[in-house]
Formats: sequence, C-alpha cells, structure tokens
Amino acid sequence: MRNKPKVVWIQALTCNGNTQSLLSSNASRFEQFLNQFELVYHPSLTHHTTLNDVLQSNASYDFLLIEGALTSNTQFLTLSDQSSTAIVEKLIKRSHYVIAVGSCASYGGVHAKFEHNDDVVGVQSVVGKKSACKSGHDTINLTGCPVHPEWILQTLYTLKAKGNIALDDEQRPIELYSHLAHHGCTRNEYFEWKVESKSFGLKEGCLFYEQGCRGPMTHSSCNKILWNDTSSKTRVGMPCIGCTETDFPRENMLETKKNIGIPAEVPLGISKRAYLSLTGIAKTFKIERLIGKLIDENR
Ligand code: SF4
Ligand code: SF4
Repeated sequence: MRNKPKVVWIQALTCNGNTQSLLSSNASRFEQFLNQFELVYHPSLTHHTTLNDVLQSNASYDFLLIEGALTSNTQFLTLSDQSSTAIVEKLIKRSHYVIAVGSCASYGGVHAKFEHNDDVVGVQSVVGKKSACKSGHDTINLTGCPVHPEWILQTLYTLKAKGNIALDDEQRPIELYSHLAHHGCTRNEYFEWKVESKSFGLKEGCLFYEQGCRGPMTHSSCNKILWNDTSSKTRVGMPCIGCTETDFPRENMLETKKNIGIPAEVPLGISKRAYLSLTGIAKTFKIERLIGKLIDENR
C-alpha cells in the first residue's frame, strides 16, 4: 500500500457520534493518523473536496468508511441528490476496503427500529459480507455506539501494514472484539461475590444483578483499551448497554430482566443451572470489605 493511503468517510443516517468519538481519540494518535493517511473527504473535517468531487472523479480510494445506516429512500436522506445506498454502491467499486463505523452502519442500529423505516439497513446488507471492493476483503464492522476511536485507528493501521484483518462471525476484528466488556472491569470481585451496586455512579458493587449491565455477554475491549486512555462506562458506575452487539438497542436497557429472581441471561458460556449454584454459594458469604465504601472518610 502507498505511504499515504486515501480515506473517504461518508455519513448517512447518523447522529455524528462516531465522528465525535474519532475527534476524542488520543491527540498524538489522531495527529499520527492525519500524518500517515490522506483524509480525502469527511463532511465535517475536510474542506478542500466536496462529495460531488469524490463522486465525479475516477480516483481509487484505499478506505471507504461509512458512518450511519443506509437507505435507498430519498425521502429519508439524500446526499448530493442521491440516496446513501446509491452512493455507497458506486464508491465501493473504487475502494480497496469498506468499513462500517459504528452500530448504525453495521446493523442499522436505532434507525432500523422504527417500523416505517423498513428500508433502513447496515452497510453489509447493501454491499454484502463479501463486498465487491477492490481488495476483495470482507466488509468490516466496527460496532459500538459510538465505536471506540482507537478501534478505528487500529483497524486502519492493521490494514495498512498487513492488508487484511481477521474477523469474527459478525465481521468484527477479532483482536478488538474477542474480549468482553466484563474483562478488565474493576468490579469483577463484586460480580464474583454477588454484591450489587446500590445506584449509578458509585465506585462499589457490580451492575449486573439489578441495573442491566451487559458486560459479561458483550464483545468489546472497553475495559482493555480504555476510553480517553483513562476509564470506561463500568468503571464510572454506568452499566454496559451492549452497544457492540447485533441486538442493540434493546428495550429497558438499564434494568436486568429476571425470572424468579434469577437474571434471564447469564454470562456467556455458563449454563443457567451452574450459574444458579454458584450464585447460591457466593451469596452465603458476607465479606465486610465488599459491603462498605471503598473510601470511607468517617472511618
Ligand atoms: S459491572 Fe458489569 S462488567 Fe463490571 S463486573 Fe459487573 S457485570 Fe461485569
Ligand atoms: S462498555 Fe458496553 S455500552 Fe459501553 S461502549 Fe463498551 S460495549 Fe458499548
């Protein structure tokens, strides 16, 4: 690949969150990206090239990044007087790699939930899992709402260096999505001993039993590659809402569905019966250290 691969970023039905996320990446990493890639077009970040310029040129692009869900219905969205689907179909043939940035671009996301938007879909529903891009590489899904900025950059750098990236069954890079949000969560000891957090925003307790935390069943490296190099939702006391999975967004995301007091969904890979036994045993222990405040100024 050339020294400075060309990147085109299209926005379809989106809240702009993935662009905001990219802009929140580590400053030196973003500078490195701008130095080592040529950002040819981004509707908010470039000014020298318009979308019409991109559409009318015959140039090839290394990376076509698509943020937001696609629709062929021009009553919902037009870009340069065309539907977002039509634009992507044209650009895919001139691009080496196609990357869906965020859960809306990957699966349709929140936009696809409205019944009157039955035409709203993710990128791979338009271009196929085996896309017709120039490299023949499968469509890459970078799920997340928004996707972590470092996941975007790591994917671009991997493709630049190696020419391909290994994907899981949902077309997500394995290196980034084989972990669970649960891995590296600072609340794991509370999870093991079934000590629930009393409310949002506290340092103490796990958020699984009452507050809907999806960390144990959500493929993401949020607690491995920290946000702002510092933290994550679960570290600050907000449950993981499973934004990297295909069923996102679900209803009532901040509560744990239960049957007879047992979470309806248990951590990945554990049978309900085994989980029930473990929970019963763990609950018989009363560990003072885990019941009190981590920092008790009155002590
Ligand atoms: S808060 Fe969520 S991610 Fe953290 S230990 Fe509990 S279930 Fe796991
Ligand atoms: S912790 Fe969960 S909800 Fe938060 S960004 Fe990661 S995958 Fe999404």
